[in-house]
Amino acid sequence: MPFENTNNHFGCSTGKISRCCPVCSIFDSQPVYENTMAPVSGYDMSYTVGRCRKCGFVFANSLADDETIREYYQSVSKYDVASEISELDCLRADAAVKICVEEKVPYDAMVVDLGCGYGALLSRLKTAGYNNLYGIDPAPNSAARAHDLFGLDNIFCGTMTKAHQMLPLAKADLVCIMAVLEHLPGLRGDMSELLKKLKVGCRILVEVPAFERFSGLESEPFGEFSLEHLQYFSATSLKNIFGSLGANLLEMEIVDLPVGASDSLFGLFEVTGKVPNYFEPLPEKSDAIEKYIADSKFRLDGALSRIPTAPLVIYGAGSHTARLLPHIEKLIGTSVVAVVDNNPNLVRKNIGKWVIQSPSVIASMPNAHILISSFRFQNEIAVSLRNRYPNPLVLLYD
Ligand SMILES: [Zn+2]
Repeated sequence: MPFENTNNHFGCSTGKISRCCPVCSIFDSQPVYENTMAPVSGYDMSYTVGRCRKCGFVFANSLADDETIREYYQSVSKYDVASEISELDCLRADAAVKICVEEKVPYDAMVVDLGCGYGALLSRLKTAGYNNLYGIDPAPNSAARAHDLFGLDNIFCGTMTKAHQMLPLAKADLVCIMAVLEHLPGLRGDMSELLKKLKVGCRILVEVPAFERFSGLESEPFGEFSLEHLQYFSATSLKNIFGSLGANLLEMEIVDLPVGASDSLFGLFEVTGKVPNYFEPLPEKSDAIEKYIADSKFRLDGALSRIPTAPLVIYGAGSHTARLLPHIEKLIGTSVVAVVDNNPNLVRKNIGKWVIQSPSVIASMPNAHILISSFRFQNEIAVSLRNRYPNPLVLLYD
């Protein structure tokens, strides 16, 4: 989940913001990929992926300004509509709980989950015996969902930068930051401010998508460069950024997740209260990002070759579609007649030049092919669509 950010970047005249390396704080990165996406709800979230020439950290080095990003999240929040804990969230939460138990985090430790969503991790911690649990999330319905689903109290609505005003952050023994850091446009500033508010000895448990496991051939092409992910952590860069902010590494682990989901990198750190005056980052392995980009391009070209010359209903209006639309618009003879999505938060919003509609509109378009614009859920969407509509389906992946 994203949070408000503090500035560690500056504006430029193209309407995009240039960022310095969140590890080294220097403006010297080499562009490696232009991540062009159709605007979602009118927000252009396209960005340039760059690699720091000093430490090798890969991050979005030119992206939408803070206000655009904040408005985008408010407009299309998908984090507080869950009706139950997903299997994937169970696996991720259980991996986090296992680390807490193995690293002997006491059961009466005060635990704060920053970006707790609907409370998946907190609920598993509660089941494991932890009893002093707090959470905060900017999504307005999170507290109600966490209460209704899991009986969790002490869930607040707010951003990371406001957490200390809403809950006793300075007393926390463990702060969990799961699937948050990759979203933060002001990563270094946000983490620096957070660490200043934590007591010495407080532990921080972090989960991010594992850069080491990015695969362009087995996963969604360019899927790691989603609309919302702005930096790509390896074990090296995660250790670098926390080390440079004065937090020592206690434990690190990569956890396998099912195909289609990014494997997770977990890091457990301890606040020392001493920010080093000079920090020499460990160098990142340099060619992994080139391989990921080349493999993704190969896979995307294969997917595009399956699109017929026909009127299309695009099923799904997320990152996958935002990436696909600029390519489809270049295909001769192919026309998009509708973009539909099941998420009620997206219906009536725009993606590219289309207004997102409810899937029920498909019934009025019997001649259109339905292009399933999803990697992970392609097959289950196909089963569900076959039961409801006679239209031919377009599947992009084997
Ligand atoms: Zn750097």
